[in-house]
Amino acid sequence: MSSNQIELSPLKLTSLASKPERTKIKVGTCVFGGDDIVIMAGPCAIESPEQYIATVDSIKKSGGHILRGSIYKPRTSPYSFQGLGDEALELLHYVRHTFQMPIITEAMDITQMEKLADIVDIVQIGARNMQNYSLLRAAGRLNKPILLKRGLSATINEWLFAAEYIMVEGNAQVILCERGIRTFETATRNTLDLSVIPIIKSLSHLPIVIDPSHATGKRALVELMSKAAVLTGADGLLIEVHQNPEKALSDGDQSINHQEFKHLVDELQPITSLRKEKIKCSR
Ligand code: PEP
Ligand code: MN
Repeated sequence: MSSNQIELSPLKLTSLASKPERTKIKVGTCVFGGDDIVIMAGPCAIESPEQYIATVDSIKKSGGHILRGSIYKPRTSPYSFQGLGDEALELLHYVRHTFQMPIITEAMDITQMEKLADIVDIVQIGARNMQNYSLLRAAGRLNKPILLKRGLSATINEWLFAAEYIMVEGNAQVILCERGIRTFETATRNTLDLSVIPIIKSLSHLPIVIDPSHATGKRALVELMSKAAVLTGADGLLIEVHQNPEKALSDGDQSINHQEFKHLVDELQPITSLRKEKIKCSR
């Protein structure tokens, strides 16, 4: 085997060869890995109850399916806003019940994961933790879908092995998330690897979603890359939305506002229908 070929045999649980039927993961009324395009949206970080509730209300009215919003933030600088932490656990619980929408949020360590397990619907493992093997194993012991982001410089093979760590512990509910990889290019925050969608679909039965916000770092690119991701076969999107992106405490440059999110959802509608139609015809 040449060095650039992906060695499939050790991927005992994530490979398409190990399970030819695609994994479907049900969260609320949505299904990842089926015909749906699941839209997850919300602020990068929850900053206050008022900010979160205003954005959640708008996302629900605009047609978003699942709410994002981190309370534990992995920041490059220890002096940047680190998230509200434990004090926002109750807010997550309140919002989930009041708005009757599923919630995805990030856990950076095992203790946080345990605190979130009973409150949220999907636990996110961030790019920086993709190879945190004890965290992956702990996620594997949860009875909860895990969204596993691709590491900043991870190859597809390394990413699938990270998913394997979760699955080997017994949790088969893994959603892969491409959020851009680090290249020499500086025009965007990261480089969005859209070709990863058909590649993952040819290698694995797991659903894959795209995060156009972290992938580009630029709000002007979010809608177009979302459309491209849906056309390329993504099972969903993870989008950062803020009521006033200029004032956001994290990732404002890549956050779209409430109106822009509504516009994006409306614009995706015909593309989503077209894709569903195409799938129906090819069956
Ligand atoms: C996030 O989703 O807010 C985040 C920190 O993402 P990533 O791990 O992709 O940088
Ligand atoms: Mn962010």
